Amino acid sequence: MSITSQNTENGRNTQDAPGAAGTDGVGFDTRSLHAGYDPTGHLDATSVPIYATAAYDLHTAERGSRTANGKEPGAHLYSRASNPTSDVLEARLASLDGGKAAVAFASGMAAIAATILTLADNGGRIVAANALYGGTFDFITNILPALGIGVDIIDRIDDPASLEAAIGPDTRLVFVESVSNPTTRIADIDAISRVAHAHGVAVVVDNTLPTPYLYRPIEHGADIVVYSTTKGINGHGNALGGAVIDAADLDYGPANTVTRPDGTDAPRYPQLNSPVHNISDEAHGIRRSFVDAAGTKAFSQRLRLKYLRLLGAAPAPFETYLTLQGLETLGVRLDRETATTQRIARFLEKHPHVINVAYAGLPDSPDHALAQRDYPRGVGTVLAFTLEGGIEQSNAFIDATRIFTYLTNIGASASLIVDPARTTHREFTEAQQRAAGIEPTTIRLSIGLEDPDDLIADLERGFTAAYGA
Ligand SMILES: *Cc1c(COP(=O)(O)O)cnc(C)c1O
Repeated sequence: MSITSQNTENGRNTQDAPGAAGTDGVGFDTRSLHAGYDPTGHLDATSVPIYATAAYDLHTAERGSRTANGKEPGAHLYSRASNPTSDVLEARLASLDGGKAAVAFASGMAAIAATILTLADNGGRIVAANALYGGTFDFITNILPALGIGVDIIDRIDDPASLEAAIGPDTRLVFVESVSNPTTRIADIDAISRVAHAHGVAVVVDNTLPTPYLYRPIEHGADIVVYSTTKGINGHGNALGGAVIDAADLDYGPANTVTRPDGTDAPRYPQLNSPVHNISDEAHGIRRSFVDAAGTKAFSQRLRLKYLRLLGAAPAPFETYLTLQGLETLGVRLDRETATTQRIARFLEKHPHVINVAYAGLPDSPDHALAQRDYPRGVGTVLAFTLEGGIEQSNAFIDATRIFTYLTNIGASASLIVDPARTTHREFTEAQQRAAGIEPTTIRLSIGLEDPDDLIADLERGFTAAYGA
């Protein structure tokens, strides 16, 4: 079996999505096992090898020079910029999401931070939703302004009028989570993309919760998809990782302009349109920008050559190997876990001590219609519910469960429980928590592969401890 997708240019593998080389017409589950890997190029090993090497033999001076200048297809230089094991993960994820290139990172936060900086540095602004993963929210609201990047947080990001009003001449990206954590609010990526693209602004979607099995943002207009692969993609809670998938559809070039206050036109993405030394050949008078060198892949080229390589949050090959292994079972895991989550949501919804269940799979959810339109396979494995009473009740509930593990992670094959107000969303003020749907007694569950009856019995133990038999 060989479904490959190597298409290297500018030295680093900017994998074209498989399909370019053989995965057309092959289903999602087949690609999750085979895309991006050809055993014949790897001593016929059927399991993707772990390439534990820091650097790569350049062979000749001439080839070394071409490799360093990004002109030697398929060549690797140093594992901080690329690695053959991580290449396979990148190609496989690009295939699953329908992107043209992907870049793997050491964590989801590294992928998110590098993506935002790649687009918004050199004087940009970002428009972001208010309901975001706590680390992302902290980065956007506290770090970006300190770096001189403007931030516009809006409450109703998929309301076209609010979004339209927030986009200005310096706006470089709209950042949104497809399914929010923990309340599973669903963003209408089609609507957001229509507004952003009318201005030539990139749409970046954190698709960590649904994974590409349940939702593929690029099919709905997104330009860039970011992941914490630590969660459902890896699925076993044993490796940190992040990934960025580039649809390479937006025009980042000189035709995408903004009008400056003085009335002149300038490129919206100046950093992608000005000459860059390490992709140029100045000895021969050739000066190239990322747009010159990589066309519509300018974003992912700069992401790799500047922020992956220079901030150094490169994934270790052992971690990308574990992530590839997890990816093999993505579809079967999510089918089972989503069905169990739906059942648990129904159970909680009927419980007298539960004030509210936030899960877009329930008919009462404000996003149910959108969920039915965009998520035919279900909205995933995370849900939140709010208990009657106070912190004593939620503490008793959490302490009484024995199968659910109390920790701050999601998307593992074992079920997890956490109290967001005191853990995952601690960076939010109480008012910000409420705006994101989190009360002091809100509990988040991440549903795994255990017997559903056992999980429900475990939740019953929690109710008994909190409210008596
Ligand atoms: C966990 C998570 C992140 C951060 O990813 P790490 O791999 O922990 O760095 C970002 N976004 C969402 C939605 C997450 O759940």
